[in-house]
Amino acid sequence: KKMCSINAENSDKPHAVCLPYPAQGHISPMLKLAKILNHKGFHITFVNTEHNHKRLLKSRGAHSLNGLPSFRFETIPDGLPPCDPDATQDISSLCKSTTTTCLGPFKELLAKLKNTNVPRVSCIVSDGSMTFTLSAAQDLGIPQVLFWTPSACGLLCYMYYRDLVEKGYTPLKDESYLTNGCLDTSLDWIPGMKGVRLRDLPSFLRTTDPEEYMIKLIIQETERSKNASAIIINTFETLEGEVVESLQKLLPPIYVVGPLNLLMEHVVDDKNLEGLGSNLWKEETKCLDWLDSKKPNSVVYVNFGSITVMTANQLIEFAWGLANSQMEFLWVIRPDIVSGEKEILPSEFVEETKERGMLTSWCPQEQVLSHSAIGGFLTHSGWNSTLESISNGVPMICWPFFAEQQTNCWFKCTQWGIGMEIDNNVKRDEVESLVRELVVGEKGKDMKKKAMEWKRLAEEAAAKPTGSSYTLPLSKTIANI
Ligand code: UDP
Repeated sequence: KKMCSINAENSDKPHAVCLPYPAQGHISPMLKLAKILNHKGFHITFVNTEHNHKRLLKSRGAHSLNGLPSFRFETIPDGLPPCDPDATQDISSLCKSTTTTCLGPFKELLAKLKNTNVPRVSCIVSDGSMTFTLSAAQDLGIPQVLFWTPSACGLLCYMYYRDLVEKGYTPLKDESYLTNGCLDTSLDWIPGMKGVRLRDLPSFLRTTDPEEYMIKLIIQETERSKNASAIIINTFETLEGEVVESLQKLLPPIYVVGPLNLLMEHVVDDKNLEGLGSNLWKEETKCLDWLDSKKPNSVVYVNFGSITVMTANQLIEFAWGLANSQMEFLWVIRPDIVSGEKEILPSEFVEETKERGMLTSWCPQEQVLSHSAIGGFLTHSGWNSTLESISNGVPMICWPFFAEQQTNCWFKCTQWGIGMEIDNNVKRDEVESLVRELVVGEKGKDMKKKAMEWKRLAEEAAAKPTGSSYTLPLSKTIANI
């Protein structure tokens, strides 16, 4: 066991180098974790890609990246050719590039830190899909913590990938298996996920190509993660306890620390740290004033996160579904939401809904979800969005796009009682009826009650001194591995 001291008075402060996967849904929780560690006495080096550093400069201004004496920002290249900062990220090429090109620059950065006037690097905390850092930690003889930012249930599915192959479920024999009912096969042998169907597993597993890059990468990353000193997951025991218990049998010691958005609020009260932000898009805050003028639980919030794209036709179906529901809505539309073209909403839709709908481009989501006017959330079911919604007692309509979102959706709809799913082939009538049900229907009321109960449990985990995430002295855990 290697020890790194956490005595803040000690001039040799512990020093964690934090390396997030360079996408919004990974950078934000890593920054929260880094702030907590810093607050507990760690010196932090937070490593962004050059591409994202430029985007942060644009969206948040230089002051937010100047850092603090004990919280420094550094950059490494992501290995991709320069591109439009606002273009949709192609996750597969970004993964290919980071896994094959980032280790060299990362090691150079570690060497540079050795010759800089900062405490000696005592551990690396990197994203669960950046496991190449394990070899850098090994070189230095220091602990390596992997931070898995999506759901624990998503990770468990990946851990069972080999069994799915052996049992003949994946890869699918051919495209016809996508529509012949095979995806509805219910599985009862993944512990903690009894009754999950093939269609509810992460999208990467529903491939016909055994050589598919994302699958091969996931196998490589989950295999390698067995060599980490510890694994951190942004979830809480009452929510995913059974799944985490199953993971404990397959991986190095796992620590649950979620929901980080709540934990943050309760353990870090530091104005200097607050100024360090992670939004890659400039936040529009006018929507908060608009929400102030609305009644409690009356507005549907619509946001599909940072990566989801859709067709122009799907966008139009969502638009008319929202309009026809007669409900009030706040809809965040990223300029690149429609793949390959600029999003265009019918002018009749804009005209018809101007009194009760607000359209905007990137909002401070955590503040929006905690606003009393929000009655429900139409979401792609990304894990951060899911946790932020749960933390605020907001029920959801789920339109999962890819990766673990399908599995998150299954848990929300069938296990936690706080979600309703929209068919991928979205139709305006379905949007209309689900949105109405969410805000004023009986099922909506029931979901709201359950969501409030989950909120209480989330707060208990993260905000109460007896809670499973709160009591975990994060810093000590990392220091003692
Ligand atoms: N987010 C935000 N404003 C927006 C849209 C998203 O602040 O308009 C934040 C949101 O709060 C969440 C993250 O971006 O923390 C998105 O992460 P998630 O895992 O939900 O989805 P992804 O973008 O990775 O698909």
